Amino acid sequence: MRKAKLVAYTRADLEAELEAIGKDLADGPEGDCPFAWEIEIGTELVDPNGYLILAGGSGQAAYLDAPRGVRMYFVANTAQDEACETTREARPKCPQHRHALGLAVSDDGEEAFWRCPDNADVQCPVGRYWAWRSAFS
Ligand SMILES: [Zn+2]
Repeated sequence: MRKAKLVAYTRADLEAELEAIGKDLADGPEGDCPFAWEIEIGTELVDPNGYLILAGGSGQAAYLDAPRGVRMYFVANTAQDEACETTREARPKCPQHRHALGLAVSDDGEEAFWRCPDNADVQCPVGRYWAWRSAFS
């Protein structure tokens, strides 16, 4: 079931989401995102709430009127592909296995998670990977 939406997202929210996703894809808690982000008002997107996110060489649409978790899910998915391709590493890495974490979104669409594809109990909110990861080592 979808909650009534009270929050109007802004471009600043979107920028904060990209920064959080980028930190999750770094090579350590103090590392940098392995590619450069760009945000463009989507020239191909008719929707005035639509932005074109460029994660390195990969593009992804993001909509300010979408639930936060849904927006982060799609952007994180594109960003993760770009990070893994750029670094040739599994990022963000599952703390229990050698593979990269997958992605999931909460039923209400408001939160996105990195999640182990083999064990759904192993998950953390997108944007909080390194704080969560530190509990495993
Ligand atoms: Zn795993």
